[in-house]
Amino acid sequence: FSVTFVRQYATIFTSGSVATSSLQNKFTNSSILSFHNNDKQRQRTLFTMQNNRQSKAPTTSGATTDTANIGGIGAAPPSASQHSYCNKQTLYDHPQVRQQSSTGSYDYDLVVIGGGSAGLACAKEAVQNGARVACLDYVKPTPIGTKWGIGGTCVNVGCIPKKLMHQASLLGEAVHEAAAYGWNVDDKIKPDWSKLVTSVQNHIKSVNWVTRVDLRDKKVEYINGLGSFVDPHTMVAKLKTNERTITAENFVIAVGGRPRYPDIPGAVEYGITSDDLFSLDHEPGKTLVVGAGYIGLECAGFLKGLGYEPTVMVRSIVLRGFDQQMAELVASSMDERGIPFLRKTVPLSVEKKDDGKLLVKYKNTETGEEGEDTYDTVLWAVGRKGLVEDLNLSNAGVNTVKDKIQVDTKETTNVPNIYAVGDIIYGKPELTPVAVLAGRLLARRLYGGSNQRMDYSDVATTVFTPLEYACVGLSEEDAVKQYGADNVEVFHGYYKPTEFFIPQKSVRYCYLKAVAERSGDQRVYGLHYLGPVAGEVIQGFAAALKSGLTINTLINTVGIHPTTAEEFTRLSITKRSGLDPTPASCCS
Ligand code: FAD
Repeated sequence: FSVTFVRQYATIFTSGSVATSSLQNKFTNSSILSFHNNDKQRQRTLFTMQNNRQSKAPTTSGATTDTANIGGIGAAPPSASQHSYCNKQTLYDHPQVRQQSSTGSYDYDLVVIGGGSAGLACAKEAVQNGARVACLDYVKPTPIGTKWGIGGTCVNVGCIPKKLMHQASLLGEAVHEAAAYGWNVDDKIKPDWSKLVTSVQNHIKSVNWVTRVDLRDKKVEYINGLGSFVDPHTMVAKLKTNERTITAENFVIAVGGRPRYPDIPGAVEYGITSDDLFSLDHEPGKTLVVGAGYIGLECAGFLKGLGYEPTVMVRSIVLRGFDQQMAELVASSMDERGIPFLRKTVPLSVEKKDDGKLLVKYKNTETGEEGEDTYDTVLWAVGRKGLVEDLNLSNAGVNTVKDKIQVDTKETTNVPNIYAVGDIIYGKPELTPVAVLAGRLLARRLYGGSNQRMDYSDVATTVFTPLEYACVGLSEEDAVKQYGADNVEVFHGYYKPTEFFIPQKSVRYCYLKAVAERSGDQRVYGLHYLGPVAGEVIQGFAAALKSGLTINTLINTVGIHPTTAEEFTRLSITKRSGLDPTPASCCS
């Protein structure tokens, strides 16, 4: 009776206004709660509730929200028959469950703000555990107007287009090598930027499409709107033409970040960022890449491989946060391929000349000497900022640290019903698999009765430079800082990939090291590898390291020959010994 009654009312209130939403809440609180006065039904409900409790935390959403389409764009909310949640209707109508919330019932159990790696994983997992979920996603165009669809940074302007362009660049290299292997190759081959961009963007659009279909199939309501808080349980979504007010018991902030622009004349007007590069409608040409973090180096790397002329401008150090010996080897390997580095240099201004070229003035921070050069493209890769400004976090009482959000070990902010995951959280690795797993585990804890927390330690990662660098665990300097130089042993070696011999590729920077405990079982603290297919090499070792890998186990593991990954099983020279780490031969 209660469900039918509520449905009738709910269909009356479908305009999407704030008044509608609060009317529904009032109606739900005052009327529905008095319906369950039949003792038998109450007992049945309590029984169901107890049985379900272990797998799902009680929520406050009521019957109204199953049928009330509050309007706005995006897929309609699931109908009562579609949603698995509806099977548990009596459970959530129960007064005892409703009392869990101080402010009454909400449109959703969970609203996720941000449809990127973290937000999507969290939203889908929450639905699978029986919650009613909406996911907001909105992308503000870049200063030159680049915009994209659902899926967040990774899919649209991050890992995926980056890896595809890196692959395009490696293929160019491989074609040249093919000649040495006996292929008759036209040595005038050259890339077609516009064809590459079209292929990359077509792939991205197909992923956007699949993502939307997946959300619809999984009954996550997708709302293409910019969310900002009104209070800890209420959010306004700015849609294309109107606004929509949404209430939820819980919110997950998964808004990620966007590239920064330096505060110098011409930076925003004439420079671009990685947000624009993968869909750039003209060839980048001679490019100044400002910044030597992994994004800057990766972009410079594939631009060189595609035949353009990148220069990397570095203010202080290369690959901050990574093992610095490896970082310098990466930089040297790029330099060897003809990518110059302007060290200790900062840009001062960018001007557009009459011929359309960009004049960049810069300064050496050590000598104070100024210089200038002209480029076709200036790419800012000077770091990323968290997207907190549109969220009106103060309305919800959520604290920020710089432009990030601090969370506890359960991803809870200082406001108990508001959580944060992904790149927006302070002090954690900004990587897609981290965002995905943290989002999924959070949803399981909220709605699946799980206690499992995210382990942010020993996360493996790869820098997709022309010669790739991958690592897991501690850098050498962090191990020394943590355990003291006398307690750390570093095993290292140069190696010669078999496939490099015939095309006579440089093996100068093919290097790897294991940072380990000096005594006892010689537990491995960190593994670092510079060479081909680095991510593929390190992924498996990451599982070993997390399982307590020791040097003894590593060197007693039989290698797969001839691979480059097997070099980890051949490590025998320590840095402390001072012996030459260059190999004599490949096979003994
Ligand atoms: P995002 O994916 O950024 O998603 C957040 C979403 O929320 C965005 O769509 C945003 O527009 C939206 N949003 C923001 N504010 C609001 C609001 N108020 N209302 C509604 N929606 C909002 N990681 C790897 O693991 N491997 C790689 O190789 C790799 N390469 C990268 C290369 C580049 C060039 C870049 C930039 C990043 C790369 N990353 C890589 C990092 C990876 O992309 C991020 O760690 C990951 O995308 C973070 O996911 P997220 O869900 O936290 O945020």
